[in-house]
Amino acid sequence: MPKPSVSVLLQRLRKAHPSARYELDWETPVQLLVATILAAQCRDSVVNQVTKKLFPKYPDAKAFANADLAELEAMVRSTGTYKVKAKSIRGACARLVESFGGQVPRRMEDMLTLPGVQRKTANVVLNSAYDIASGVIVDTHVARVSQRLGLSTETKPDAIERDLMEVVPQRDWTFFGPAMVLHGRYVCTAKGPKCGGCIFEDLCDQVGVDVQGSPAVSHDDVPMETDLFELPASWRHVLRDEIEKPYFHQLRAFVEAERRDHEVFPPARDMFSALELTAYDKVKVLLLGQDPYHDVGQAHGLCFSVRPGIKPPPSLVNMFKELRDDLGVGIASTGYLVPWAKQGILMLNAVLTVRAHEPNSHKDRGWEQLTDAILSKVNDKSEPVVFVLWGSYAQKKAKLIDDSRHIILKAAHPSPLSAKLFMGSKPFSGINQALRNNGQREIDWTLGG
Ligand code: SF4
Repeated sequence: MPKPSVSVLLQRLRKAHPSARYELDWETPVQLLVATILAAQCRDSVVNQVTKKLFPKYPDAKAFANADLAELEAMVRSTGTYKVKAKSIRGACARLVESFGGQVPRRMEDMLTLPGVQRKTANVVLNSAYDIASGVIVDTHVARVSQRLGLSTETKPDAIERDLMEVVPQRDWTFFGPAMVLHGRYVCTAKGPKCGGCIFEDLCDQVGVDVQGSPAVSHDDVPMETDLFELPASWRHVLRDEIEKPYFHQLRAFVEAERRDHEVFPPARDMFSALELTAYDKVKVLLLGQDPYHDVGQAHGLCFSVRPGIKPPPSLVNMFKELRDDLGVGIASTGYLVPWAKQGILMLNAVLTVRAHEPNSHKDRGWEQLTDAILSKVNDKSEPVVFVLWGSYAQKKAKLIDDSRHIILKAAHPSPLSAKLFMGSKPFSGINQALRNNGQREIDWTLGG
C-alpha cells in the first residue's frame, strides 16, 4: 500500500480528537517541563497524582533548583527511574534559574541545553505551553503508530520525527503530535491494536502488527487461560527441571511487573519466538545474541531479526553485507529472519526481554540462567550442532559447549564497533561447510528482495 495521504490522516484525526492535548496536568511552562520529565515510561495518570502534591511544594523553577534531592526523589518515586528524574528536574530548573531568569526558554536550541531534556520533552513544552511548532512530538505512541501506518521505517525518535516533519505541514505539527499520542494510547495500542473500527483501517499498512499472518491479536482476545510465560512444548519438556527452579518464578514475576508498568520488548506473545520457530529436535545451528532491540517495533523474539517493514539496524546491515561478500547473496529488503529460524537456526538472545529504550535493563534477572540452560541442553544433543559465537560476550559461553562433538564458529560481532573485524570472517559459508561436514542440509540464506 502506498504511504497514506497525510491530509486525510489529519482530517480524520481532527474529527476523532478535535481538541487533542497532552493529558498531563499543568498550569505553567515550568510545571509542564517537570511533568513531561516525570512522564518518561510512566502513565500520565500516575504523573498527575504525583504533581498534585509536587507543584504546591515547589511552586517555581527556583524552588525545584533548591530542592533537597532525597526529598524530591521520595516524592517522584512512583513514576519509576526516580533518581534520574529527580536529578534531571533539579538540574534543568537550576539551569532555568541561572540562564533564563527562571522561565522556560522558547527556542529548541536553548531547551536542549537543559539537563535531561531531549527533543521529545522540548517539543511537548514548546508545542503545548507556547504553541510553537518546533517539531513533532515523538513518544512511544507516536513512534509505534507512525511505523504501523508506514509513515516511517525508522526506530530512533529523532529519525522518526524527521520523517514526520517532511510529510506533515508545519502548521499542523502542534496538533498532530498530541492527536497521535491519543490514537496510540487508546486505539493503536502496543498490545492488541483495535484495527477493526480504527479511523485509519482502510489506509493502514499495519506494519509489524501481524507477524505470523494471523489477525491482529487484542490482549483482550487472548484466552484467560493462556500463559504467555509458558515455553513451547518441545522446550518445556527439555527444560522441565529448569522451569521449576525458584529463579524462573522470580524472573516471571519480574517480567510481568515490568510489563504492567512499562513498555517491554518484544511483546509478550513473541518472547519465546526463537524456541517456537526452532523446536529442540530441529536445532542444527545456534546463533547467540545478547539483548533484544530496545526501540519501538523492532524486536520480535529472534536475535538480530526485526519485524517486517522495520529498517534493519546497523549490525544486521553488516551481516547482510558480509553475506553478499561471502556467498553472493543479494542484500535483502527485509530484516525479518524467520526463514533462517525455520531451517534449524536457533536465534537466541541471552536475555529475552528489555524495557523500551533502556538497553540491558533486564540483564541479571534470571534470563541468563535460563538461556545458559538452553545452551547446555543443545550441547547435550547427540547429533553435532554448529554454535555461532560473535563477539566476546557470546564467546564466553564456549565453556558450556563440548567442542569435541560440536563445531564452534567464533568471529567479531557485526556491530559497527567491530564491523571491520567481522567483515571477511565468512561466517555464512563456514556454517554451511560445517553442516555439509555433518551430513546436514545447508541453510538457504536468501530472504527475498
Ligand atoms: S489500523 Fe491498526 S495498526 Fe493501523 S493505525 Fe489503526 S489500530 Fe494502528
